[in-house]
Amino acid sequence: MSRDTIFALSTVPGRSGVAVIRISGPEARGALAALTPGDPVPADRRARLRQLKDPEFGPGFGDVIDQALVLGFAGPRSFSGEDMVEIHCHGGRAVVDRLLSVLSRMPGLRPAEPGEFTRRAFDNGKLDLTEVEGLADLIDAETAAQHRQALRQMDGALGRLYDGWRQTLSRALAYAEADLDFPDEDLPEGITDTIAPTLAGIGSSIRAHLADARRGERVRSGLEIAVLGRPNAGKSSLVNLLAQRDAAIVSAVAGTTRDVVEVHLDLGGYAVVVADTAGMREIGDEVELEGVRRARLRADSADLRVLVVDAADLDAAGGLPDDLAELCSRDTVVAVNKIDRLVGPVTLSAIEGPAIGVSAVSGAGISDLVEMLVSMVRDRLSGDGGPPLTRARHRDALAECADALDRAMAAPLPELAAEDVRLAVRALGRVTGRVDVEDILDIVFRDFCIGK
Ligand code: GDP
Repeated sequence: MSRDTIFALSTVPGRSGVAVIRISGPEARGALAALTPGDPVPADRRARLRQLKDPEFGPGFGDVIDQALVLGFAGPRSFSGEDMVEIHCHGGRAVVDRLLSVLSRMPGLRPAEPGEFTRRAFDNGKLDLTEVEGLADLIDAETAAQHRQALRQMDGALGRLYDGWRQTLSRALAYAEADLDFPDEDLPEGITDTIAPTLAGIGSSIRAHLADARRGERVRSGLEIAVLGRPNAGKSSLVNLLAQRDAAIVSAVAGTTRDVVEVHLDLGGYAVVVADTAGMREIGDEVELEGVRRARLRADSADLRVLVVDAADLDAAGGLPDDLAELCSRDTVVAVNKIDRLVGPVTLSAIEGPAIGVSAVSGAGISDLVEMLVSMVRDRLSGDGGPPLTRARHRDALAECADALDRAMAAPLPELAAEDVRLAVRALGRVTGRVDVEDILDIVFRDFCIGK
């Protein structure tokens, strides 16, 4: 199969010390030879300093483009599995633009589509789909936990787990089919005793893997923490303070109305999304009511809640008034705010569950609050050691697989059981991209940008 040779700037466009242009395909080495007339193309996997020239200009007539480090990888021992060339040139706009335009004029070469290098790596069996997704996550990783998880997935841990299940099921399927072809009169109707334990075992492994509280997905997208409380309790002040201290990712994004403001933070190495909800109060105009409704929804669906309470609103015994107490659950931390206004120390003993005295103005207690939140986040996101599934795509396919296995085990006829095992194998194959994948490839590669 002859393919176009593709090229792209693989580093961020703009001004930089060095920029990397990658070329992949049958003409990759030829393109490098054309850019470096008179110089030998370096041996496989050897970097050489070369003067890059525009072949359309004569020597001394503006032909020199740059001094660059060039290296080639002969397929299949390359990222894409094809012949590849990397040009590490200087990252000035004019240099890069000129090089890209020279490459685009060469016969057989064209600019790469987004994700096309990785797509070729997949097509050539260099990566399975979970590894492709791990690579995308590695490039997007902003926190230490996202980084760890992506590395692991890119390393193939998830793919190996799923592929192991798929292979075992494929063997069971072969048994079931042999049984259909050579029926043994002594066998009971339904699936044979030999494969039933295998199906049951894999079914329960998959169910256990699915029951992970969406750990991997949450590491990727950020654990949700809703900040709630009465108006003027100090929610916004507290969120702003957290953002200033720990905002490693992005700043506040205003919601559509007066409802929810989100701040993405790196909390102890974990991505969290802190949502500052509008004050929980029943009165107000229509917009405000809608804000309150959304805030409630948001707080209900959040993974953790911080209930901000003005210290002045605590009852005489230091307990929460009823309207606030009913907002508490196992996932709620009570932040008793404005302790700077108290004459004596704050008493928290009358509050059920984790509580901490803070001041969004003086900063008192904030590091303890952060520490408490980090440990709660860690409890929810650190796992038992197995690679976590990281996408709804995996979840859907695995659930489909487990359902098919349940049906196979309950099937009244061996033919029906075999068909369900076949569906189960196919569902697993879709996660790693072993079978039947055309329809999902576009989904996986959609998020890639050019040059990857
Ligand atoms: P929200 O409506 O819950 O978001 O409350 P805000 O953050 O807007 O705060 C309401 C008012 O309380 C503002 O005037 C803040 O300056 C004040 N405030 C917030 N936190 C503290 C605090 O810890 N101590 C004191 N003294 N005032 C605070």
